Amino acid sequence: MIGDPVRHSLSPLIHNAGFSARGLDWAYVAFTVIDGDVPRALDGVRALGVRGLSVTMPHKEAVAEHVDELTEAAAALGSVNCVVNRDGDLLGDNTDGAGFVAGLRHELDMDPGGLSCVVVGAGGAARAVVAALADAGAARIGVLNRSRERARTAVELAGATGSIATPTDLGEADLVVNATPVGMSDDAVPFDPSLLHAGQSVVDLIYHPLRTPLLLEAEQRGCRTANGVSMLLFQAIAQWEQWTGVEAPVEQMNAALRAAVGENGRLPGNC
Ligand code: NAP
Repeated sequence: MIGDPVRHSLSPLIHNAGFSARGLDWAYVAFTVIDGDVPRALDGVRALGVRGLSVTMPHKEAVAEHVDELTEAAAALGSVNCVVNRDGDLLGDNTDGAGFVAGLRHELDMDPGGLSCVVVGAGGAARAVVAALADAGAARIGVLNRSRERARTAVELAGATGSIATPTDLGEADLVVNATPVGMSDDAVPFDPSLLHAGQSVVDLIYHPLRTPLLLEAEQRGCRTANGVSMLLFQAIAQWEQWTGVEAPVEQMNAALRAAVGENGRLPGNC
């Protein structure tokens, strides 16, 4: 894994639990790579024959520019969180969106097909979620964001199903996703929670704390809720399976992650 910072990352723990459960003599380690050093880091991967990389902040866009090939998901987002080394030819993928949808199925037994969704935020995570919801057949995808210009860029990823959302749309959505950091290091909520009601599902991509003020408010109003732990797990699982070509031991990787985040969550940091 490359990023800066990577010190508090949970990724080594998730991936190594998978190697251990499958009896693979592999190791996953985190390297601090400073801004500007991405080309040298990728040359290192080629020279050393490292099988793959996870990529985290601030390098997702730079890696997309320097790998040899991109998957459709990574090309649409201009962002790579996973590199697969195929005999020196580096393929860049982005598993965040697929991880979100897989997490939704796992945690809430929910398929986005035909749903009306609102994504709050328009950054890297929001864009991955918007594109993945569109791929999974969501009927409507609204984007609500502080900066309207950025919201437009995210909406484009949803094609005909995308639109700029208003706060009123929050009350009409089947699924509301918070993809802003609001609630991570403060007691704030990203929008007025009185707009929420029973019958809706609310996912907060934040995983520290495990229950954000938004999730607590949503629970009080009878919504089904999920935090960002499942997305973190399944974006990692999608990477793990590409590198190894082996079916991931989901239960063991999930157990290792849940044990590490505990009841109170971990210190915030790059995933
Ligand atoms: P990002 O690219 O920096 O985007 C942040 C978004 O939040 C932007 O749209 C920004 O609006 C909005 N925002 C920031 N502060 C705000 C505020 N005070 N009020 C309203 N809107 C605000 O960040 P990111 O990488 O997308 O990450 C977003 C969140 O998702 C973080 O909490 C991160 O931890 C989480 N995440 C979780 C996972 C997972 O696996 N669970 C994976 C990735 C990210 P503007 O466009 O107006 O600036």
